[in-house]
Amino acid sequence: MLSDSEVRRILVITAHPDDVDFASAGTVATWADAGINVTYCVVTDGDAGGYDETVGRAEMASIRRGEQIAAAEQVGVHDVRFLGYPDGRVEATLTLRKDLARVIRQIRPQRVACPSPERNYARPGVSHPDHRAVGSAALDAVYPDARNPFAFPELLDDEGLAAWTVSEVWLMGGPAPNRHVDVTETFKRKIAALRAHESQTGQMDGLEGRLREWLSRAAAAAGLPEGHLAEAFQVLETG
Ligand SMILES: [Zn+2]
Repeated sequence: MLSDSEVRRILVITAHPDDVDFASAGTVATWADAGINVTYCVVTDGDAGGYDETVGRAEMASIRRGEQIAAAEQVGVHDVRFLGYPDGRVEATLTLRKDLARVIRQIRPQRVACPSPERNYARPGVSHPDHRAVGSAALDAVYPDARNPFAFPELLDDEGLAAWTVSEVWLMGGPAPNRHVDVTETFKRKIAALRAHESQTGQMDGLEGRLREWLSRAAAAAGLPEGHLAEAFQVLETG
């Protein structure tokens, strides 16, 4: 496992605007504070989200892009990319693998964070089909697509993107976490990031209390002292 001081660039791949903020914005803030360049790649625009039926879906997509960019700023992330796939209908296709391999080769990250492709039976809400599809495609893009110069050779031939090997992957929302990051100090910024997704969290009463409860449970599982908060990941070595 790499220490943060060995990492210069991190790519966070998610299915929807707000996924990164629920799962890992506190951790992202610690990475940005350590001087690491973090990029978000969001596969859909979240156009099936929100509560307001009077808002058109195209308009919702544009609202949610803006909210994710604002949320990113709260935790020190200034590079947010959207792939524009339709919300609720993501599949782990070769096209998605190629699109993710392209971003990996552009960014050349030592560490990638992405959703777990596994269903979490203990917390079904984190295993949205789009999350599982994005997790599966992202892992395939890490290995073998991004590192194999003969996978999607047009990425090199037409776009000049050389093969790149990602050293480790941090899975979010999976059933078997093996890494807990203490986010007690960055929790306020995580909440500010979540509040930036107003179309999603504007009607959530008790958001901060609920998050505090989840993150306290993760901290307790990690053996951190009472009052601490943590985000959980399953880290895979992929170098
Ligand atoms: Zn989601």
